[in-house]
Amino acid sequence: MSILVVLNWKMHPASQKEAQSLFAATRQYTEKVKDIHVIVAPPVVYLGKLRSAYKGKKISFAVQSARADAVGAFTGSTSMTQAQNVGAHYAIIGHAERRAEGETNDDTRREVAAAYALGMTPILCIGEKTRSGENEHFAFIREQLRIGCTDVPATKIANIIIAYEPVWAIGATKPMAPHEMHEMAVFIRKTLHELYGPRAMNASILYGGSIDDSSAPAMLKLGDVKGLLIGRASVDQAALKTLVESITNS
Ligand code: PGA
Repeated sequence: MSILVVLNWKMHPASQKEAQSLFAATRQYTEKVKDIHVIVAPPVVYLGKLRSAYKGKKISFAVQSARADAVGAFTGSTSMTQAQNVGAHYAIIGHAERRAEGETNDDTRREVAAAYALGMTPILCIGEKTRSGENEHFAFIREQLRIGCTDVPATKIANIIIAYEPVWAIGATKPMAPHEMHEMAVFIRKTLHELYGPRAMNASILYGGSIDDSSAPAMLKLGDVKGLLIGRASVDQAALKTLVESITNS
């Protein structure tokens, strides 16, 4: 089973030319690695051009955020349909930075449903803002999962990708400990099983938040995850190179 590596470029880089060069480097570092599947999520302004110039199979494309409505009076927004039309097969949904801008669990529910309706694969991001030591974060995560997945047909639940990204570990100095991720992966699977039955056990779970070459191997080995969602290290060519090498050698 190959490792899933989602490269979330966020609002980087500043120009089309740099986007092409970052994509070329991403290709170079990942193309010959056997056991990984790479999903690049560039800013939507670069997505179509990068996708149409790419003839390989190793890399797929994701939109970082998209509205469920196909078209409409939503200035500045991109729809799931538009993203698919320029080549996105995956959709990151409910990233913490979008939730911080006001995206709700109910929005994620509609976006997940829109992605499924178009035959795209949703990458639903969940994660608590803080941990109190009282284990309240489990109820918070359960709610994000329950609402976000409400409209997923039971026959399709195995296709969903759940990216667990504790908000406190995004853009931080270090990721969550792998054994804590393992505990969370078990909780996510248990919750999906309660909601959807045994089929849900095949849903893919990713970890995201401050992963680099020093933390990726242990997280993949001990975190009970199918892959990683990478922010900063995906837009820094040197960091990306060592990250991919660390995964390859792990
Ligand atoms: P980071 O971002 O790797 O820079 O912490 C992860 C994310 O937000 O997906």
